[in-house]
Amino acid sequence: MTNLLPEMAEIWQQTLNWQPTLQQQAQFQKLYELILEGNRQQNLTRIVEPQEFWEKHLWDSLRGIVPLLSANFSSTSLLPYSSAPLALIDIGTGAGFPGIPVTITVPNCTITLLDSTRKKITFLDNILTELALTNAKTIVGRAEEIGQHPQHRQAYDIALIRAVGAASVCAEYTLPLLKQGGLAIIYRGNWTKEETTDLQNAVNQLGGVIELIEKFTTPLSDSIRHCLYVRKVANTPANFPRAVGVPSQKPL
Ligand code: SAH
Repeated sequence: MTNLLPEMAEIWQQTLNWQPTLQQQAQFQKLYELILEGNRQQNLTRIVEPQEFWEKHLWDSLRGIVPLLSANFSSTSLLPYSSAPLALIDIGTGAGFPGIPVTITVPNCTITLLDSTRKKITFLDNILTELALTNAKTIVGRAEEIGQHPQHRQAYDIALIRAVGAASVCAEYTLPLLKQGGLAIIYRGNWTKEETTDLQNAVNQLGGVIELIEKFTTPLSDSIRHCLYVRKVANTPANFPRAVGVPSQKPL
């Protein structure tokens, strides 16, 4: 039995003004097959049906960032200025989302895939080799430690984070890693005004501002999604991120 991903060229075009090349489509397919295979060894994802995988893993991963990179999109101003290739980090990447689809799609960026689980990172190392992706590297570690590491703190233009914790926790994980002017992209499902108030309070302490909250629906199942774009506008105080476990136990 083969599990063939749909192409969805028209939907890519209509929603993101972008379409995968033949090579990118082949890489998506290979990624899908490797994840199905990896799922037998470890619990990587519950989303295994081809259409659902396309929507919730591929499309959803790219929806948060591809519009920023396209020249004729109104949010282009969101993109941090950089003359060098943009440095991205995906925090708590798990089976590689959103990081791997972004790596496939945006070759002129360097991407760091961070996860605290070694088994997941070992799986991702194999994915990078199998898909011949040379613009990404992996790190086993906690966001709280990496955020205090001189090599990583204030080193990234864009920090991606999906399904890792409450938004204020995501803010504490992402903002220390960003250069000033850099952008955190926090992927969410549902979102409420009360949550905006909490996030506002957290980002104030971390040197960030909420620049944009975008609401949209996914193209196949019409599920609600939000992307929160948080800009780093000032230094993050040295005490953030707090020690391992503290951000999630005592959210800002
Ligand atoms: N981003 C992926 C995976 C979400 S599951 C997706 O959207 O599909 C959350 C992942 O974050 C897990 O793999 C877990 O190991 C990792 N994680 C949780 N807390 C972390 C932390 N503080 N630092 C690094 N990784 C973390």
